[in-house]
Amino acid sequence: MSLYEVNDGVAIITLDRPPLNTQGLPLRRHLDDALRATGSDSNVVAIVITGAGRCFSGGGDITEFNLPAGAEEPQAPALFARLEASPKPVVAAIHGMALGGGLELALACHARVAHASTQVGLPEVNLGLLPGAGGTQRLPRLVGVETALNLILKGTVSSAAALADSGLFDRVTEGSVLEEAITLARSLAADVAENHTLRRTSALACHMDNAQAFIAFARSTLKTPAGGPTAAQACLDCIEAAVCLPFAEGMAVESERFRGLATSSQFAGLRHAFLAERAAANVLDLPDGTSAREIKRAAVIGGGTMGSGIAITLANARLAVLLIEREQAALDRAFKTIREYYEQSVQRGKLSSDTAAARIALISGATDYAGIAEADLVIEAVFEDLEVKREVFERLDAVAKPGAILASNTSMLDLDLIAAFTRRPQDVIGLHFFSPAPVMKLLEVVRGAKTAPDVLVSALALAKKIGKTAVVAGVCEGFIGNRMIEAYLMQAGLLLDEGALPHQVDLAMEQWGMAMGPFRMSDMAGNDVGAKIRAARIERDASRVYSGVSDLITAMGRYGQKAGRGWYDYPPGARKPSPSPEVQSTVVAHSAQLGLQRRHISDEEIVDRLVLALVNEGFKLLEEGIAQRASDIDVVYTAGYGFPRWRGGPMLYAEQRGLADVIAALSRFSVGPVYQHAEHFWRPAPLLVRLAESGQSLAQFNLKETP
Ligand code: NAD
Repeated sequence: MSLYEVNDGVAIITLDRPPLNTQGLPLRRHLDDALRATGSDSNVVAIVITGAGRCFSGGGDITEFNLPAGAEEPQAPALFARLEASPKPVVAAIHGMALGGGLELALACHARVAHASTQVGLPEVNLGLLPGAGGTQRLPRLVGVETALNLILKGTVSSAAALADSGLFDRVTEGSVLEEAITLARSLAADVAENHTLRRTSALACHMDNAQAFIAFARSTLKTPAGGPTAAQACLDCIEAAVCLPFAEGMAVESERFRGLATSSQFAGLRHAFLAERAAANVLDLPDGTSAREIKRAAVIGGGTMGSGIAITLANARLAVLLIEREQAALDRAFKTIREYYEQSVQRGKLSSDTAAARIALISGATDYAGIAEADLVIEAVFEDLEVKREVFERLDAVAKPGAILASNTSMLDLDLIAAFTRRPQDVIGLHFFSPAPVMKLLEVVRGAKTAPDVLVSALALAKKIGKTAVVAGVCEGFIGNRMIEAYLMQAGLLLDEGALPHQVDLAMEQWGMAMGPFRMSDMAGNDVGAKIRAARIERDASRVYSGVSDLITAMGRYGQKAGRGWYDYPPGARKPSPSPEVQSTVVAHSAQLGLQRRHISDEEIVDRLVLALVNEGFKLLEEGIAQRASDIDVVYTAGYGFPRWRGGPMLYAEQRGLADVIAALSRFSVGPVYQHAEHFWRPAPLLVRLAESGQSLAQFNLKETP
């Protein structure tokens, strides 16, 4: 590939590393070589930098971190400084996206022309990093401290049109960015020929009257998580430096803070979570060239909590949905829920009333199955009862068109049994949404023994379309997420028997980073639901041991938030749950009944027992092939269960801690009270032992086990 093309005196340098023109070593080298060559090419009076394919540049190459290539010259900050110093004008022609390093490259150019639809932002903070190639120093100089602070600290992505008046772009156009950039480059070259100085971002003043007070206020609003200072705080330090220090010194602060973040455990966790999500979309054993079935019309059976949420989720992705309920009253309730959701979205300014009306209009309702024949996808969300599912799937089998995908939102039931209710098990799949469906990112895609490859591919394509993070799971009780949470909740309950109280357990977990402790979570999900699940499990496997307190509080009608009382009391109007004296005395009395001497339980033990219960179950799932890879388990937990993203996920946590240390902790816990069958519960998963003994990493295990 030639380094650049010349169009009547203007050199066009194309960033060409499909799909996103990320700035790994090859692209940095290409840009560096092209800049040097254009600099000494007497035919060139100006330079335009553009991106090949669908965007300008998606930013740095995150897969290069920790690899030798990542440290090789040229490094982005110095490369962009050379670019900015060019005596020949350089114009960025931006389309598609300019994110992270992509935007930083554009900031170093002497002018920027963007297509109105370009997605622009510095999202590094979401990865626990900061824009380390001059972004924190150049952006405030161009757009002012307030706008820069919002973009950098929140890591939000905006359209160029929304930033048209910010000073970031010289032109925002609906036309050809390349043509307009060439024209602008020529006019800048003419200015240079007349001895005008080029406008270099680094030379601009960064001024705001009350900048320091503004930054101090922003700093006071940031929270420090358990893992130490956040990337947002480091970003603030850099923006403060942009205001107070000369450019070169500000760059030194940026570089120092960047290095600090790049070696932090937070970045390691967030980077892992990011890469894990990308890997999860990749199914390991699909025949090459498997393509998705077309999904234009969907139907949802059951309009309760999940069904109405799923209908909204599909309508939000502009899919037409038919919602089916048993009777008109239930259908009316579902539509009331749906209307309320959209009314709130309008009130909160998230949607215009026109858009909300258009989305509602996409959802139609019925109490019979006549319209099912039109649907390309049917998602069942009726009661969690195998007989009710049987009735629904037998009817679907009779009326759905050939090739329609028949999905179940079951949380726990055996998908293969559900598939067997039809004569087309190849078309049946699990689509396990989480509550509230329009909000929760995770979608567990459950692959039955007979699910056809193209049905699986279609489910993954649907997940993308509706903005969900999909993870493929095999069939077992509870799939990945709920099977693991079962072990976690079991331990949370048993800790109560031994001496802990619900709010102590919750607080310990929340301080460790979980979005919500186990008892608050149970109150949200409904303790009556939990009680049914436990009863069914004990019936199948009498060796399972739960704390009896859970059933005692359910018997008191303490069903959770919906009842105004559960593990906590929820006084009307109060914003926070308050610990319940009644529950506390029930807990203490139950310990006495078990003959247990209550003891002080440290927060460390609470966290260890709950997190390592997840970890051990995770290793079992991996070994059984229910999860395709360890990092998929991490995605389930970070995207669906409030596991702190900056810790990466339970499997990464185990690996970072050291598998031998994990096993040692399990062995300490195995000497628990006899009634808990602790020795059985804490027996390390065979795979955990194997990997600890062989010193093999989870990534190596995945590579070895996959075809
Ligand atoms: P729900 O009780 O709120 O709603 C179920 C709805 O299905 C009711 O409105 C009922 O009228 C309707 N229904 C029952 N039989 C029907 C039939 N034959 N035809 C049409 N409609 C019928 O229950 P939910 O919480 O929405 O759960 C539904 C499914 O989703 C269950 O399988 C559950 O395990 C699963 N799930 C629930 C959650 C959750 O947090 N609630 C999360 C993930 C998955």
